[in-house]
This record gives sequence, structure tokens and C-alpha cells, in this order.
Amino acid sequence: MNAAPAPRDMVRSGLCIGCGSCVAQAPMEATMHFDRYGQLRPAGSAAWLRSGSERLSRTCPFSPRAADEDALAAELFPHAPRHDASVGRYEAAYVGHVAEQEFRREGSSGGMTSWMAAELLRRHLVDGVAHVVPADPASDGRFFRYSVSRTVAELRAGAQSRYYPVELSQVLATILAEPGRYAVVGIPCFIKAVQLLRREYPLLRERIRYTLGLFCGHMKSARFVESLAWQSGVEVDELACIDFRSKSPERQANWYHARLQLRDGRSTGKDWWHLADGDWGAGFFMDAACNACDDVVAETADISFGDAWVEPYASDWQGSNVVVVRSPDLARLVSDGIADGRLQLKAVDSAFVAATQAAGLRQRREGLAYRLARRRGGVRPRKRFVDHAATPALRRKLIYAMRASISRWSHRVFRFARFARRPGIYLRWARAAAAGYHAVAYHRGRTGALVRRLGLR
Ligand SMILES: Cc1cc2nc3c(=O)[nH]c(=O)nc-3n(C[C@H](O)[C@H](O)[C@H](O)COP(=O)(O)OP(=O)(O)OC[C@H]3O[C@@H](n4cnc5c(N)ncnc54)[C@H](O)[C@@H]3O)c2cc1C
Repeated sequence: MNAAPAPRDMVRSGLCIGCGSCVAQAPMEATMHFDRYGQLRPAGSAAWLRSGSERLSRTCPFSPRAADEDALAAELFPHAPRHDASVGRYEAAYVGHVAEQEFRREGSSGGMTSWMAAELLRRHLVDGVAHVVPADPASDGRFFRYSVSRTVAELRAGAQSRYYPVELSQVLATILAEPGRYAVVGIPCFIKAVQLLRREYPLLRERIRYTLGLFCGHMKSARFVESLAWQSGVEVDELACIDFRSKSPERQANWYHARLQLRDGRSTGKDWWHLADGDWGAGFFMDAACNACDDVVAETADISFGDAWVEPYASDWQGSNVVVVRSPDLARLVSDGIADGRLQLKAVDSAFVAATQAAGLRQRREGLAYRLARRRGGVRPRKRFVDHAATPALRRKLIYAMRASISRWSHRVFRFARFARRPGIYLRWARAAAAGYHAVAYHRGRTGALVRRLGLR
């Protein structure tokens, strides 16, 4: 494709992640809305959706015309002393948690993201933090949305990871309308979108002072919450809010437990382990654009945070972070926090961070190269790591193909079951799909034993 890709081209090519960057730059009538699969997508006049512009295609995070993460990081962190293909450029990396207990208790991992954002507010380095907070689903059906918090109390009320579609257009409008200094929290492609916008718009460059990235495995559609409700024996309309990862001393950190708060004051819970679609690795409800992503750790963020999925940290129910610091300013704040005893962090190297994200990195390196080699038609993404073992072993090829297929079909089968008001249609399919995936990925069950006997690596 030679012309600059338009929003509609990106959507049709499965490359729109729904970040809202294009809508933030659009005429008044454009908005982000849920599509039939519960994913946020741009909506507006047909003319706007069809018309590409050089600027739009430079600022869409999955556009082949946008600068890639390496180029952005080189501009943003030119003096970073360290570089590694898994984590990008960086000043320092750590594992641990916040020692100020309320942050760790309230956070999904070790509480570092909220602590860092709070520290920026406490030190008056920013006036507001754009992050994701619970919303009232009764107003427009959304359970979470971006909002600007201006106090530590507001910020803390928004702690925890939300595996739910959100978008930046409204919060970017707020940042443009209300003078001040801001930080933005986001998953890697959202932070990339923010950095691309900062390159184009001096006002955003001036106002967005810091970016706080979250490591990311993939983004899920809103149907995951509906499926959670179905499997908990409640209707989605009965839900008031969701805690995707409720902590408890009875469960180690990586045994996720979802808590659903109902409108009538009751609550119910479900271990992800017992969900038909609760295996993160199987890719249920994954956004198609995630198949074309090559950034696990938010390489363009000033600092980024993930879960320490290695022992002994993974077993500690209270949660632990891995942290990658890229901005020298934030590196100083982290060092001060450690010196004051407010952070309990130990320095680690990039290999340690990569080991905590081994599965995500395989999917975004070897898996990406494999998927891109098979991709036909539409806008062709321009990615790094395309020659990264483009011919994986047969079992790994099967895993990548099954994951992509489960993602694609989960959207469709759920849509049909929802339309027919027959959750069982989706749940039976999801269990069968998960069993097939588990046989190949983990050699589980009789088919798994066969896969093992065949010696598939
Ligand atoms: C979709 C998604 C996928 C993830 N995948 C991985 C993964 O594969 N590996 C891994 O190690 N970690 C992953 N994470 C990050 C991990 O879940 C934790 O968010 C991270 O470790 C920070 O934990 P914390 O205790 O420091 O944050 P907390 O103190 O709980 O603060 C979290 C902050 O992030 C904000 N936030 C929550 N959800 C979103 C969102 N969707 N978009 C923008 N801001 C948000 C909150 O408002 C809050 O400010 C993912 C997060 C998300 C949202």
C-alpha cells in the first residue's frame, strides 16, 4: 500500500488496537465505540474513516509509517547506558515491591506503578496522572476508562490492572484543554502512541512530562468480562465492578482470582484457573493487533513495570514487580526510594527481566516472525525481529497457529452465543479449544501424551 493508511484500512487489516490516537486528532464527530466483538474502534464520518493523512499514519502505533520502538527510544533515551533486544534501552532494572504497604496491598503486582505516579504528584513534578479507573457501566456500558487523577487518594483508588478495552482520546483532550504537567500510564502500544503524538504536537510534548509503561501480554475485548459473569452465574448487567486479580494469602501471586462486585451489594469470585477461557497463553479474546506487536515491556516509556513471574517472587501472594527504568530523572526517584527504605528493590540485569516474560517474548519474537511470514493482504506492518527464527519447531508453530485461531474464533463464537442467549455454546467450544491448546502446549491429557510420544518439540 503506497497511500497513507486511513483508520478504516488499519481496522480492516486487524492492526487497530483501539488506542484512540486517531480520534484524538479527528474532527468533532469522531469517537471511539465498541464494535460487535466488544473491542474499541474509531467511528466517524465515512469520509474521515476513509481518508488517510501523513500525520495520522505517523502517529498510529501499528502504522508501517510510524517510527518504531528502537527509533523512538534512541531519541528519548540517547544516553541510556544499557541496551538489550528484550527490554530495549535502559538505565537500571529491579525486582521487588513497594515497602509502603498500602501500595503493595492495593496494587496488582508490587504496587510500584501507583507508587511512582504518587511520587510524581507528591514531589510536584506533575499536576495530574492519566491512568485507568473504574467507571459506572450503567452510564455507557464501560467498566473502566482513562481519567486524570490529581491527588494521591484518587490515584490509589485507580490501582490494579484492567484487562479491558480503554482508549486515550478523551484524556488527551483533557490534557490539551487544561494546562499543566501530566504523566500517562499505559500498555506498550498506548505509550508508543503517546510518544508518536508528542513528536507531532509541541503542546503534548510540553505537557506530558512522564510516561509509565505496563508490560503487556495482550489486550482483551470487553467480552472477557461478560464471559466471567456467565461463568460466575450472574448477568453482566448485574455487575458493578471487577477486580481481575484479587490478592489472598491462600493463593500465590500467579493464581489469579477475579472478584465481581454486584449492583445489589453482593460479590462473587472465580479463580481464572477454573474459567474455560482463563489461560492467558491460549489467547482468548485477544485483540488481532496484538498478533503484530513486538514490544512486551513498553520500551518507549520512561519507566515500565511488570510482574516478576519467576521464583521465589511468583509464589509470594502479595505480588512483586520487575521494573525497567529509562529516564535518568525517574532513576533518581527510584534510587531515593530505595535509600529511604520506601522501596524494597534489588538490582537485576536484562536477562532476569526477560526470564520473567519468557512466554510473552517468544510470542513477540519467534511467534511474530512466523505470523508475519504467513500474513497476506491489507496493510503490511513494519516490525523489528522479522528474521527471528522465522521457522520455529513444529510444536511451536502449532502453538502460535492455535493461539491465533483461538483468538479469532473466541470473538465470533462468543458473538453467536450472546446473540442466541446460549452461553453453553461458547463455553463448550472454549473448553474444547483450551483442551486442544493444553495438549500441544503442556502435553496435558490423552492428546497431550500422544503429542509427547510423537516427539514434537
Ligand atoms: C492488558 C494488560 C496486560 C498485561 N500483561 C502483562 C504481562 O504479560 N506480563 C507482565 O509482567 N505484566 C503484564 N501486565 C502488567 C501487570 O498486570 C501490572 O499492571 C504491572 O505489573 C503493574 O503492577 P503494579 O502493582 O505496579 O500496579 P498498580 O499499583 O496496581 O497500578 C496499576 C496502574 O496501571 C493503571 N492501569 C491498569 N490497567 C490499565 C490499562 N489497561 N491501561 C492503562 N493503565 C492501566 C491503573 O490505573 C494504575 O494506575 C499487563 C497489564 C495490562 C493492563
